[in-house]
Amino acid sequence: MAIREIVTIPNSVLRRKARKVTEFGPELQTLLDDMVDTMRAAPGVGLAGPQVGVPLRVIVVEYGEREEDGVPPRLYKVVNPEIVRASAETEMGAEGCLSIPGYLGDVERSVAVTVKGFNSQGKPIRIKASGWLARIFQHEIDHLDGILFTDRAEKIWKIESETAETESAD
Ligand code: ZN
Repeated sequence: MAIREIVTIPNSVLRRKARKVTEFGPELQTLLDDMVDTMRAAPGVGLAGPQVGVPLRVIVVEYGEREEDGVPPRLYKVVNPEIVRASAETEMGAEGCLSIPGYLGDVERSVAVTVKGFNSQGKPIRIKASGWLARIFQHEIDHLDGILFTDRAEKIWKIESETAETESAD
């Protein structure tokens, strides 16, 4: 397992339509494991193949709905993911992207989605997600079609520099 370099804009791999995975061999396992390591190290809650320069339809997502309750975040590795149902109800939320460092944007997303795909072993899986988890899946699957959150955002703003002076807590 290894941490890979995260590709940032304007690298063209982020704008390409990613290819379907057809082989569930050791190369795919290494890619998925590396993507998990890379996502955790960033740190982030999701990562798509093109973001590590690999134009394949693979995503990893790790998000805990109730981390404050001590429920550990759940890890998803999804191959050839597809949104098969999306709620008509939508909500606005602030999103960022590891490939567009320093920016956030308000994006309207479906409140709930059903994702179909395959696990790392090639077994069909179906995931029902709502709230932030649903948002993350929509964001990551967009990456596989070359779509970035900034394409959908109503408003984009720069995150204040982390090196900005902070008040001491005494
Ligand atoms: Zn992203």
